[in-house]
Amino acid sequence: MGRTIGIDLGTTNSCIAFSDGGHPTVIQSKSGSRVMPSVVAFSAKGERLVGLVARRQAITNPKNTVNSIKRLMGRRYAEVASHINDVSYEIVENSNGDAAVRIMDRIYTPPEISAIILQQLKLTAEEFLGEEVTDAVITVPAYFNEVQRQATKAAGKIAGFKVRRVLNEPTAAALAFIEPEGRKKLAVYDFGGGTFDVSILQVVDGVFEVKATLGDTNLGGDDLDTKLVKWIMGEFKSETGIDLTRDNIAPQRVREAAERAKCELSMTQETDINLPFIATGESGPVHLEITITRKLFEELAGDLIKKTIPLCKEAIEDAEMKIEDLDHVVLVGGSTRIPMVQKLVEEFFDRRPAQSVNPDEVVALGAAIESSVLTGQRKDLVLIDVTPLTLGVETLGGVLAPIIKKNSPVPIRNSRIFTTASDNQSVVGVHVAQGEREIIDGNRSLGTFELRGISAAKRGEPRIEVVFEIDASGILNVSARDTTTGQEQSIKVNPSGGLSSGDIDRLRREAKANAEADKIKMKFVSLRNESDEVIYRASKSLAVAREELDKESWAELETEVKSLKALRESDDSLALEKAIDEVRQLENSLAKMIEMFESDEEDATSEFLDSISHIEDAKE
Ligand code: AMP
Repeated sequence: MGRTIGIDLGTTNSCIAFSDGGHPTVIQSKSGSRVMPSVVAFSAKGERLVGLVARRQAITNPKNTVNSIKRLMGRRYAEVASHINDVSYEIVENSNGDAAVRIMDRIYTPPEISAIILQQLKLTAEEFLGEEVTDAVITVPAYFNEVQRQATKAAGKIAGFKVRRVLNEPTAAALAFIEPEGRKKLAVYDFGGGTFDVSILQVVDGVFEVKATLGDTNLGGDDLDTKLVKWIMGEFKSETGIDLTRDNIAPQRVREAAERAKCELSMTQETDINLPFIATGESGPVHLEITITRKLFEELAGDLIKKTIPLCKEAIEDAEMKIEDLDHVVLVGGSTRIPMVQKLVEEFFDRRPAQSVNPDEVVALGAAIESSVLTGQRKDLVLIDVTPLTLGVETLGGVLAPIIKKNSPVPIRNSRIFTTASDNQSVVGVHVAQGEREIIDGNRSLGTFELRGISAAKRGEPRIEVVFEIDASGILNVSARDTTTGQEQSIKVNPSGGLSSGDIDRLRREAKANAEADKIKMKFVSLRNESDEVIYRASKSLAVAREELDKESWAELETEVKSLKALRESDDSLALEKAIDEVRQLENSLAKMIEMFESDEEDATSEFLDSISHIEDAKE
């Protein structure tokens, strides 16, 4: 086995580091660069260019230059369709619906392009270290779902690495920033080129635990550039009447200049953009000359930057902490160099973010530290990851019964007891879903299976144990077992398989927005379930009491049951509650009478547990 390195495979830039005796060092290229642009280009001669050389020729070869490939990793074409105009190369749909890139009539998958970047990084590391590099720890945004992590792993494999671990970027940052001894809580605010993430971590004597993580995979420095690009092009058009968006080369030139201006504005209050010969007008060549102030940039991009703060608030709440509980705030990613970002972060967290770490290098350094843990050089650290969304099963009335709550540390095993919803039901359908909505339809379905051979029993009597188990690599195994017969069925699902990061963001947002509506729906679901339960019990009592007991009570209960049945579907919750109450009271007194007459009669009711839905479908 050769050396293991840590790789921060960034949207805009990548950085690598190695660990010697547990101490991480950034690997420099021959020219002394500590980061490499994550850019790949294909020249007319068919040469592959990577890094700075690829970036430098982007202006003259925009269609064959691929940047920000990380945004396409593990994504469906439909999810990225809205970003197609943000890049100068062609994004296409693969035969399986995934996003891919077309360069000179050849289709490349995102892992293939990322692999070209990784290969170059491998080469740089081998030159620097003077030995073969075989293994890698590669970082990904904490919010990457399973498909995106698999795509990253695939890229590493294509590049010839044995990928020892796919590590969350904020965890890597925390590893590099904090001394493992003692007990500390920290927030990692990671604003890069393509994504934003915030994670809340707790470190207790070398055990790093991500308490909560939240992000927006469609928010990064590139989006701030887009705001500037649109403004510059708009100004240019109103001054000259020329629409630069139609040109082949001009948009790329403007984008480059906008990004440069944005970076300069992190140090100065004002900067000029000069792009000679950007277009040709009626009277010859036209030049673009424009001044941009920091104030203007903040006006244009402020709303996007401000979007990060509510996510920080939510992450702290998810971690069940308060701002004052935090010991440190660590900034990661190039976009945290923007003064407005630093100001907002300082105001929100009520403390100065740590200045001791370089936001471009801290993730790679953390990855190198993790590599030293994996190779046994360091034994004082342990990492614990969490699940990003709640996992559960569908129960009667289309409600999600959570079994593993979001932000639970993995590996994890949780179980819950369910039961049948009708007498002698021999099959239950187990529908596994992921999301934060109480109503099942708002969540992402992960799979369904049936548990058959449930022993004949009254509804509510069988005890069916549903177990959710997530292993260290994030694979979920769900099993259901009839505790009486021992019958068991199980499926393996990928907790975020098929769930795009966009889906995760959407699910979280929708859950919030729909919380009120769901509450109302939930009330009706529970009232209807309650109606079913009392109707069931009353019907049993009526059947037993028909001959023996006082006709009046019997008839009264029967009438009330009929009216409750009629009301079951109504949306008058008060009337429904009242009818349930009537039936329950009448049934109780009838049941008491039955008890007195038939003291040995077995109680027809049983404790009403959560009932697995699909009962109807599953009935044999
Ligand atoms: P990363 O993904 O962490 O490499 O961050 C790259 C993003 O940070 C890109 O959008 C860069 O334009 C942005 N960036 C880098 N340096 C600065 C800076 N000094 N000011 C503003 N943005 C920057």
